[in-house]
Amino acid sequence: MTRKQVHVAMFSGGASSAFVAYQMVQRYGKENCILFFTNTTWEDEDNYRFMDEVEAYIGIKITEWADGRNPEEVFHDTRFLGNSRMAKCSEELKVRQTIIFLDDYLIGKKNLQPILYFGIGPHEAHRAERLKDFYEHNCIEPIETRFPMIETFREDKDIKEIIEKEWGIRLPRMYYFKDEKGVQIFNHANCGGRCVRGGFHHYKGLYLVWPERYKKQEEMEERFKIKFDKNVSILKRDGKPYSLKKYREEILEHLGNEDVQKVLQSLEALDNTAEIPCVCTFS
Ligand code: SF4
Repeated sequence: MTRKQVHVAMFSGGASSAFVAYQMVQRYGKENCILFFTNTTWEDEDNYRFMDEVEAYIGIKITEWADGRNPEEVFHDTRFLGNSRMAKCSEELKVRQTIIFLDDYLIGKKNLQPILYFGIGPHEAHRAERLKDFYEHNCIEPIETRFPMIETFREDKDIKEIIEKEWGIRLPRMYYFKDEKGVQIFNHANCGGRCVRGGFHHYKGLYLVWPERYKKQEEMEERFKIKFDKNVSILKRDGKPYSLKKYREEILEHLGNEDVQKVLQSLEALDNTAEIPCVCTFS
């Protein structure tokens, strides 16, 4: 006997996944759809505002799945401080929770056949391939994945305009912050700018926009180092640990200095967030 299909939008709290969720619900009906969100508890409050408004606009409640820990608690439990190359917070709080939701709840308990929808665009087709492969091989049965943005070739900009102008919903504020050169500050709007995969540019943005939040990250890094007696850091400079405290004291507090700007440019050029994208931006 074939099982009933359920269409699951993997809602990151960003514009593209909101748009995909809307299209999915229009096509398959509210009763056959789920908006799925994994909460790390580090999100910016304005992301939660955006999610509430999207939920009301689309007309179905977001299904939120949470491990219960925040990224720092995961770092302590795994004795590994997340960084741009490896982020166990993402594995534990996003990927693992998604698999539990699919295997144990939708398939195991509800006897449904999930189909997953992602807001990945054509410029990220390689990520779509990885996701497709992941969900074919890592759940109790192969799960179909769909990428409507790749099929329809809609650009991010159109979607942002549609959400703001047609839906009347302002995007999360993290999309709007720009640095002194007019460059968008945050690589993505997850975890309130504190993403351990963010890199130098992202953390500069955090310092400029929310210095008190930057300070919290500094303190988190220090707590980990002291507790586990390990010289580790979120950022690396010349292959060695480079603490957020040092980054602030040596670079960020001197952004008006031309020589410092040159150093910063060379550091930002080393950001490898494009090669190692954060899974959280589309989960
Ligand atoms: S957005 Fe970054 S910090 Fe947050 S869970 Fe994902 S990898 Fe970790």
